[in-house]
Amino acid sequence: MGLADLHIHTIYSYDGTASVPAVLKRAREVGLDVIAITDHDEIKGSLKAFDLAPKFGIEVIPGVEITTAEGDLLALFVTEKIEPGLPLIGTIMMVGEAGGICIAPHPMARGVGMKSLSRDSIIQALRHPQASRILIGIETYNATTLDRENRHNTQTLLEECPRIAEVGSSDAHILQTIGLGATEFSGYSAPELLDALCLRTTQVRRGAQPGSARILGTWALNYVISAPARIAAAYP
Ligand SMILES: [Zn+2]
Repeated sequence: MGLADLHIHTIYSYDGTASVPAVLKRAREVGLDVIAITDHDEIKGSLKAFDLAPKFGIEVIPGVEITTAEGDLLALFVTEKIEPGLPLIGTIMMVGEAGGICIAPHPMARGVGMKSLSRDSIIQALRHPQASRILIGIETYNATTLDRENRHNTQTLLEECPRIAEVGSSDAHILQTIGLGATEFSGYSAPELLDALCLRTTQVRRGAQPGSARILGTWALNYVISAPARIAAAYP
């Protein structure tokens, strides 16, 4: 079985703290075979990771976390920025035109600064004949979303929409949480992962959960330390 973490942020995200090489090194160390860098409305870090990946012995799927008008949306297998701020279904169709697929991250989760898709938005997209071929997964586990209610909500959504693939992700904004949520799939490569998502055969792996206070404390410290690197990444 292969292991993937399809939701990781770098300093190219306004709230990320880790450099691209550090993420690749850590991802390999924790046993991941495939990762996606999904910075907020930014593709540069992901493309850089895609180029550097062979040196680190890991496979990278280029991607981005798009801020749609209805909440966050992960786009994978895309190599271009997708315009933020547009309705969900239109955004999903743009991702499809760019050759990508979509995953609903931390669906219905509420939290500070968190913009999650609602149950209605997701169900509407899954009932749309074209969009439902592109939105093929939901995060039923997100290691950064420490919200028990959300876990219950995603389970009920899954029961209602059994044709959607389950994904587990870290949503890491710091190195230490990479791989704490992951997706198991048959095979080890990105194409095999895509097949598993399309066949809905993926499974979620939950990592040992560090306390929210520890995550927040480490993030705050790293956020300050990484400020010069983030500025350099934003204005290369
Ligand atoms: Zn995220």
